[in-house]
Amino acid sequence: MDLSKRKFKDDFKKMLTEVYSMDITESELTEQFFTLGNLIRSYSSKNWSRTNQHYSEKKEKQVYYFSMEFLLGRMLKSNLLNLGILDTVRSALQDLGIDLEELVQIEPDPGLGNGGLGRLAACFIDSMATSEIPAHGNGIRFKYGLFKQKFVNGYQVELPENWLQNGNVWETRKMHAAVTVRFYGKVWLQQTDKGFLTPHYEGAQEVLAVPYDSAVIGYKNNVVNTLRLWSAELPPQDDISDYWAYIHQRNQIESISEVLYPDDSTYEGRLLRLKQEYFFVSAGIQSIIRHFKKMHLHMNHLAEKVAIHINDTHPALCVPELMRILLDEEHMDWEHAWNVTVNVMSYTNHTIMSEALEKWPIDMISSLLPRIYQVICEIDRRYTMKMGTLFEPAIIDRTQIIEGGHVKMAHLAIIGSHSINGVAQLHTTILKEKVLHDFFLVYPSKFNNKTNGITQRRWLMLANEPLRDLINRKIGNEWETMPTELKMLKAFRDDNETLLELARIKHLNKERFADYVQETMGLAINPDAIFDVQIKRLHAYKRQLMNLLHILSLYFKLKDNPAADIQPRVFIFGAKAAPSYTYAKQIIKLINTVAELINNDSSIENKLKIVFVENYGVSLAEKIIPAADVSEQISLASKEASGTSNMKLMLNGAITLATLDGANVEIKEHVGSENIVIFGLREEEVYQYYHDGSYHSRSYYENNPVLHRVLDALIDGTIPGVVAEGHSIFDSLVQYGDEYFVLRDFDAYVAAQERIDSLYRDMLKWQRMALINIAGAGIFSSDYTVQQYANQIWDVSSNAHLK
Ligand SMILES: *Cc1c(COP(=O)(O)O)cnc(C)c1O
Repeated sequence: MDLSKRKFKDDFKKMLTEVYSMDITESELTEQFFTLGNLIRSYSSKNWSRTNQHYSEKKEKQVYYFSMEFLLGRMLKSNLLNLGILDTVRSALQDLGIDLEELVQIEPDPGLGNGGLGRLAACFIDSMATSEIPAHGNGIRFKYGLFKQKFVNGYQVELPENWLQNGNVWETRKMHAAVTVRFYGKVWLQQTDKGFLTPHYEGAQEVLAVPYDSAVIGYKNNVVNTLRLWSAELPPQDDISDYWAYIHQRNQIESISEVLYPDDSTYEGRLLRLKQEYFFVSAGIQSIIRHFKKMHLHMNHLAEKVAIHINDTHPALCVPELMRILLDEEHMDWEHAWNVTVNVMSYTNHTIMSEALEKWPIDMISSLLPRIYQVICEIDRRYTMKMGTLFEPAIIDRTQIIEGGHVKMAHLAIIGSHSINGVAQLHTTILKEKVLHDFFLVYPSKFNNKTNGITQRRWLMLANEPLRDLINRKIGNEWETMPTELKMLKAFRDDNETLLELARIKHLNKERFADYVQETMGLAINPDAIFDVQIKRLHAYKRQLMNLLHILSLYFKLKDNPAADIQPRVFIFGAKAAPSYTYAKQIIKLINTVAELINNDSSIENKLKIVFVENYGVSLAEKIIPAADVSEQISLASKEASGTSNMKLMLNGAITLATLDGANVEIKEHVGSENIVIFGLREEEVYQYYHDGSYHSRSYYENNPVLHRVLDALIDGTIPGVVAEGHSIFDSLVQYGDEYFVLRDFDAYVAAQERIDSLYRDMLKWQRMALINIAGAGIFSSDYTVQQYANQIWDVSSNAHLK
């Protein structure tokens, strides 16, 4: 948009007076933040309604991206950037004596997600608006985001994240668009006068779903899409005779949209999770149908106007919910309804980890959602009947939806969708050949790959302004919407001036992060050291533990020989563990304790430091990634479906140290094997071990002296204060088979780290590698990912910028 500094200053002062009756000198950061937020809303509101009007008039097909999580991060700068007014506003605010960066800190980071999956959804809505795809997010407005992590004596402690405490400036409550969602009760089918069978409900609990909409602003293109998040409320009551019963019922209903991850170790917690899933699915689909009906088209045409995407299995109930509406409310016959449903739905699988494949006990789902359960049974019955004539009984048994007393959500999503995609080439291959092989035999043409992506606007243009400026000086700014244009940077691979400039920017970012660490943790780190970064959820398969074992090996090397020639390193960790994941929490305690030991050991002359940042999330990622030299992507091959921190880090010039897992495989293809450091077991080798059962971790402990010493340190008191954790972790590796092959890959990992050490010594060579990584990162933009979803899955038009 066009905005002069003068106009902005006038608008800002006017808004401050109107809303707070204050002038600038009286106002504080909070008022200034809300004033700016409200101004941004007013600047985008015309385009928001114009976009919606355009979609309605053109009757364009709409995409609805259903996701339990949207890990948005702060929106202030992102909105300013996408409106094209970031620099103007920053400079105008400065004239008024206000530092934009200080305002940024006022906004809470809405942690409405756990990790990669939720962040993907956030990157996608940014890229869909920018790529002019008529697409909207649909999720839950959790009152509390993911817990706030604190370390107390090295242990993770979880605190509530009350991100809505001061209100959310970006959202609008849309009471007129509220819908009712039903739980429990009895349901039976009854013939109507017209001969339809319609369900009758008795004793159902009704929940009011109230949408809160936020603008999703496209990058400099006047498009504003919508993110709709639902909140659960008690429907208005005519009569509140029993006040305490009323309060109780209200609390119970409001708990549906209260926390992102209810405690899944109890029945009650799991039930609440199922309620959440149906809640946002039913609300979202009802609202889509309501909107569709304004076009006065027959329901048979739904798939021409609507695509619904199921992000992981959490929204898999979209399938029976749409069926329910088409059958019960629109009176379609089964065949037509099913045809429409399958054509509308598509599903992304995010993991092969079996504990993440959701299934619900039959009694839970049949009592909570009686009608939905009936529909699921009928879907399953027809599936087995139809496919039973075509495939072996064993295949049908393994692909049924209802099996062993449970409803399998992935099976429901696959059977009910026309497309199922994995999130990196390797992951899709594993799905087809191993994890979902039976389904691949049944529906070969449904399977396809869509490698994940990240938005370069947040992860480079906002997070790393010095690098953005350098790139723009060298190759112009076409890459902002055509990111493969970053490849033009390769022309500077032998230009020492550019390489030195890159080194200077990296150093600047490292200094900034070092200042932050000094201020927040009271720890001094050296910006000349290698900043070696592993930031992601804490999970055994991601192998933060292997990273730590390597650090211990370096530590002992220095203890034995203080003159040992190693490059100084700062190991940076950021990770939350699921509250009920004991093993992951033990690893957190271990890392923190080793950090304490190493950071305070003056005999190693500050050659090693460990920084474990508290409460890792999007805002911290934005600080750490631009300062990273090394990107640790060391999951056991086959286990990380794609990874996206690998993409953010390469885009910021970090060198990837990786196993051939997930998208690392594709990163290697794009930068060439000389610009990435690869090590470790390959996926085939891992499966071979599974097949022949020949991995014996103990022999690695017994035969590798370095490993032996490092592992003994866990249990012999070398690391003080981790008796229980040390033994548990030691046993998991040596005694109980080392599920993720940490000991098997340890030597290869140490060798790869030595390669990093030697590469880093040649500064120009290192910067050349960094440059090639930045230049090759464009293909991993979520702009391309969503354009491929649009063309190949959703069948909607996009303004494709793909070159
Ligand atoms: C990108 C991102 C992730 C995903 O990291 P992976 O290493 O791909 O698992 C998780 N959390 C946050 C905050 C992120 O920004």
